[in-house]
Amino acid sequence: MKNETPVLQDLHGRHHGYLRISLIERCNLRCSYCMPEEGVPLSPKSHLMTNEEIYQIAKTFVKHGVTKIRLTGGEPLVRKDIPVILEKLATLPVELSITSNAVIIDKFIDVLKVNGVNKINISLDSLDRGKFKHITRRDQFDIVYKNMLLLVEEGFKVKVNVVLMKGFNENEIIDFINLTKELPVVIRFIEFMPFDGNKWDMGKMVSYAEVMTYVNATFSEESIQRLQDAPNDTSKNYKISGYKGSFAVISSVTNPFCDSCNRLRLTANGQLKNCLFSSSESDILTTLRSGKPIEPVIQKAVQAKFKVRGGMDTLEKLQEPKLHSNNRSMITIGG
Ligand code: SAM
Ligand code: SF4
Repeated sequence: MKNETPVLQDLHGRHHGYLRISLIERCNLRCSYCMPEEGVPLSPKSHLMTNEEIYQIAKTFVKHGVTKIRLTGGEPLVRKDIPVILEKLATLPVELSITSNAVIIDKFIDVLKVNGVNKINISLDSLDRGKFKHITRRDQFDIVYKNMLLLVEEGFKVKVNVVLMKGFNENEIIDFINLTKELPVVIRFIEFMPFDGNKWDMGKMVSYAEVMTYVNATFSEESIQRLQDAPNDTSKNYKISGYKGSFAVISSVTNPFCDSCNRLRLTANGQLKNCLFSSSESDILTTLRSGKPIEPVIQKAVQAKFKVRGGMDTLEKLQEPKLHSNNRSMITIGG
């Protein structure tokens, strides 16, 4: 990439060309693995990035070699000025994409298309209406399922994120894969990860190996195809021969993919996180508002990035509650 500069290069030889921006801390669902039932303390509005600040910060990242921007949340589509944000970011030379729970995405089809967003990741953890309501604490299964079909019909490239939890939805792994027989979507099974307030423990997680045990017990060896993963891909990709879609596993817990990590995360209140698992943050927004250049802050944050999972390089460390509970709840990071 010709505009790559040392600003986004860490001490482990990784260039960071992918920025995930969280637009909002609020959400219209309440997924239990993502946020505590009582909610999270919200930043005052004046502490959140305005659409112009998002654009200015994104522009600086692009100048130093970011080529992909993904918008996330909370629920990004709940933010009132989302059309303006999309319009501004669409003027940058980046691949723009979004992660949404799809509850209201049917209202945004045109605005997404006009601004060149064609890759959409949605979240759907169960194909059972009652279970969906239980995990999200809201009764929105029908609309989410309908919107998934609508997105496919409208020609978007759709990935469906499924956070797997023991005794809750692991018995749906094969149902989800069967959905790919006729539907050209990528089902992405995600290992349940620890964040503040989500009552994580290793026993609740369904591992990559366990997913493959279900797959191997159901489909013949010849029909299970291991696909080539894209560069910097966080997932291990598979397909059942003849099926229109495919499936993947994101194994951040049992098989971290930190060697090829190219991601940085900007929270809705303008803090840069150099790793999903790291509790340290760098205040980009205050620096921007003070009129100082943000590059030195970005560079320092990138250079402080640990080689593996925010320093939790072993499963033992990941299981240490005091290490992961200093981190934010996922709802204020954005995935
Ligand atoms: N509201 C949008 C959505 O649900 O797609 C975007 C934000 S959400 C935080 C982004 C992704 O993070 C979702 O796919 C969600 O499933 C995933 N996620 C949240 N908490 C998680 C956890 N504890 N472990 C693994 N994935 C998690
Ligand atoms: Fe909201 Fe997404 Fe978190 Fe669910 S996973 S509570 S939809 S931000």
